[in-house]
Amino acid sequence: MTHPFSVCVYCGSRQGSTPAFVEAARDVGSWIGSRGGQLVYGGGNNGLMGVVADATLAAGGRVVGVIPESLVAREFAKLDCTELHVVDTMHERKRMMAERADAFFALPGGIGTFEELFEVWTWRQLGYHNKPIGLLNCGDYYTPLLGFLEASIGHGFMNREQMNLLRVGVEPAALLEQLVRAVSASAGEADLSRI
Ligand code: AMP
Repeated sequence: MTHPFSVCVYCGSRQGSTPAFVEAARDVGSWIGSRGGQLVYGGGNNGLMGVVADATLAAGGRVVGVIPESLVAREFAKLDCTELHVVDTMHERKRMMAERADAFFALPGGIGTFEELFEVWTWRQLGYHNKPIGLLNCGDYYTPLLGFLEASIGHGFMNREQMNLLRVGVEPAALLEQLVRAVSASAGEADLSRI
């Protein structure tokens, strides 16, 4: 491996309504690229996905895109990725993304982003991997969701230990630094063969 770390970023295939979301995506890509890191993502060119990938490449990082064949046209597969993997199914995509990453990072997004975030979070609580997971609460986008999750603890459907597996931050660099530090502490404990 020639890169010091690999971060899987989940984010919207749209840009959202506020320039702050685009700026955050650009900051994430620049942070990864300027440290010689690797971005793993869904391989699309649209929305925040395209922004984060472009910023990573522009800053000198590697970009691994993984896209199902059926979405190549719809999500405008990014042909200038360092590696672009066109796979058969959505499940293959998500497995490859998880395997190629040392940590997971969610920016604002829609139901695809929610699904991917919750999936790696549930895999973590089941012990299928031990990779850190970060959620960027940019512009308070995720504040209602975090409130709902707290309510779920109150209703007895979640516990604090599960909640604490999700590292929440508002500043891209600070959250990425926290994740990359946590990677070295948990290295080598993943077993994704069970997903
Ligand atoms: P969204 O956050 O809805 O804009 O989607 C962001 C990304 O999540 C897109 O690349 C989707 O292809 C992807 N995605 C992953 N899993 C799913 C799923 N089960 N349903 C829809 N989109 C998904």
